[in-house]
Formats: sequence, C-alpha cells, structure tokens
Amino acid sequence: MNGSMSLGPRHASVGVRVGPYRIGGGAPVLVQSMTNTDTVDVDGTAAQVKALAEAGSELVRLTVNTPEAAAAVPHIRDCLDGMNCAVPLIGDFHYNGHKLLREHPACAEALAKYRINPGNVGFREKRDRQFQTMIEVALEYDRPVRIGVNWGSLDQELLAEMMDRNADLDAPLEAQQVMRSALVESALRSAAMAEEIGLARDHIVISCKVSQVQDLVAVYGDLAARSDYALHLGLTEAGMGSKGIVASTAALAILLQQGIGDTIRVSLTPSPGGDRTQEVIVAQEILQTMGLRAFTPLVTACPGCGRTTSTVFQQLAEKIQSHVRARMPEWRKAYVGVEDMQLAVMGCIVNGPGESKHADIGISLPGTGESPAAPVFIDGAKSVTLRGDGIAEGFQAIVENYVAEKYPRRS
Ligand code: SF4
Repeated sequence: MNGSMSLGPRHASVGVRVGPYRIGGGAPVLVQSMTNTDTVDVDGTAAQVKALAEAGSELVRLTVNTPEAAAAVPHIRDCLDGMNCAVPLIGDFHYNGHKLLREHPACAEALAKYRINPGNVGFREKRDRQFQTMIEVALEYDRPVRIGVNWGSLDQELLAEMMDRNADLDAPLEAQQVMRSALVESALRSAAMAEEIGLARDHIVISCKVSQVQDLVAVYGDLAARSDYALHLGLTEAGMGSKGIVASTAALAILLQQGIGDTIRVSLTPSPGGDRTQEVIVAQEILQTMGLRAFTPLVTACPGCGRTTSTVFQQLAEKIQSHVRARMPEWRKAYVGVEDMQLAVMGCIVNGPGESKHADIGISLPGTGESPAAPVFIDGAKSVTLRGDGIAEGFQAIVENYVAEKYPRRS
C-alpha cells in the first residue's frame, strides 16, 4: 500500500516460516507481543494470549522458565486450540532452555519457535554444549529459533575479549561503540554456530535489543549491512505510557523507513492493571501510520482549539475509533479491504470540510458560534447534515452502511 512514500528498499532477508506466517523474505512486517502472566497459570495465560491475538498479534511469546512452565505450555496450546485461536506460540528461554526443551518434548512440540539468548545460555564449554542442545531440539522438531541478544544480558566474556582488543588499538573506539559491536558480534557468532550445527539459514531470526534509540538504530544498521538473517526489531525496556510509545516509535520508524525489520514488538510497561494489548495496538499503528500495512481504519481527528470549546468532537472521535476497533474482527471476516477505510472527525469549519473530503467518510462538527449542524462527506462529496443529540449514532450508522456497500463480501 501507499506506494508514494519514499520507503527505503527492504533489507534482503531470508524468509523464516513460523506456523502460517513468514518472517522476512519480503513478507509483510509481522506484529508480535509477549504475555506477562505466570505461564504455569494455563487458563490465565491462554486468556491473555487469545486477547493479544484478537487485538492483532500474529505471534505471541511466553516465558518458559521452569519445569512447571514447560509442562503448562502444551496445555496452553490445547486450550487455545479449543478456543479456535491458532496463533503460533514462541517460547522464551534463558539459562535452562536446554534442559526444559529436552525434558519436556510436548513443550518443544507445542511451540512454533524458540527464543535463545546467547548471553544466558551458560559459560565457556558448557555454553556451547547447552546452545547445541537447543539447536538440536529445534532440528528435531523442525522449529526456527530467534537468537535474541539483549543489552542487559550481553555475553560478558565476548564483551571483555572485544574491550581488550579495542584497548590495544592505536586509536581505541569509545566503550559504547565496542558494546554495540559486541551485541552484533554475539548474534552473528551464535547464528553461525547454529548453522554449523545444522540449522538452516531459513530457520534463524536475529535480534539485538537495546533500550536507547540511537543505539538501536546503529546496531540494526550494522546487522542489516552484515547479514541477510530475518530481523526481529524492538526497543527493549521502552518504558511506560507516552515515553515507551514515543521511544519505540522513534526507533522503529527510523529503521522501518530504511527497510530494516521483518517483525516488530513494542515492549511497553503496562500501568498496574493496564491492558497488555496496548503494545499490539501501538505496533499496528506504527506500521499503519507509516503506510507499511493496514490493520484497522484509523480516525483522523483535529486536536481542537479555542474555536471549539465543546468536547463533543473529542467524544465523537473516541467513540468512533472504539466502535471501529470493536467491529473490526467481524468486518475483517466479512469484507475485503475494510482495514484501509479512512475516517475523519473534525472540530470546526476551518479544516473540517477539507480534511473530511480527503477521508472516505468525514464529519465536520460545529465550532463555537457556528450553526449547530455537522455536514458529513462521503468519498469527497457532501452527503448529509446531522443535527441534534443523535450525531454520534447517526455517524456510526453511516459508517456501518458505507462498509456494507463499499467493500466486497468475502466468498
Ligand atoms: S479544525 Fe477547527 S477546531 Fe479543529 S483545530 Fe482546526 S480550527 Fe481548531
């Protein structure tokens, strides 16, 4: 979609099949997320996975940290299958993944992909052995792996080795640059080791997550230049609320614009009791506002100003966006292309009619002192004028009709 944007050419990566999806190899950038329930809690975890999948997460990762968690994974899979939720599950392993995968074959089978953190696999010769075991399990079950390096758990032996080498240089690099290189080196060395053990390149995804935007841009630029592995992109520990959203968006947008990134995760810290699905919505909105994919119709709304002192248009914009999100699972099943629909809710006549004409359906509400009428524009032409208390309901009905008439039904 949106061929007019000057997006950079996609980083040419080798496609990796995960369940029904493909990561990389020119496939659309996938959205993934991670649960924060105790994996041992089968019902609670299955419910959260389902909510994430329904929000649009195409892959869902869960932590597999104990024998009990590994034993729970196949039950979570069964539970999801029983709810008609086929979303592929990814197991996140640290420290004991080699044991858990070996000792719980049903877990290895139920997972569609394994995440291995090379910094948390063990030390020295034990590390290679344990890494090898995990790759062997992946080979046995024909599963892909993500080699997921993280700033906070970077292989310290490798870092020390690279710091020593750097110190011997005539013009040593800054420590931060060496750390960035060590992240990339850790991922690439581990991927090479996995290939030596026998895992094909089309079974390997790589990530190098850091928590600062400029570090992430530099590290992924380096990764993309040096390899053709499929890349999982995400800013780790992005934070809470607007800070987490802004930091993730800034980092991911720069890289996606350069064609770098085959799957993304937005690591938001939810507020206590907050909705975990927010990270999925943010990831989708990043891709959609950049014109890379379309998931759900988005509402363009003006920010409001002194020309409109009422909160009617804010309430309407919110109501319409929630309505569209709530209706989308059904619309998606019934109609082709409805995710591309564009809506506009504007506060007054200054930009209202103009912006509304650019949307598929737009409404221009009356500003302070304007006549209490709200013209609605459909496909650029004025259609009806809504008045009175039922403007929201009237507009909602117009949107429903438009969807039913404009988008072809799926056969
Ligand atoms: S459309 Fe009207 S109310 Fe909205 S920001 Fe512009 S001038 Fe203000």
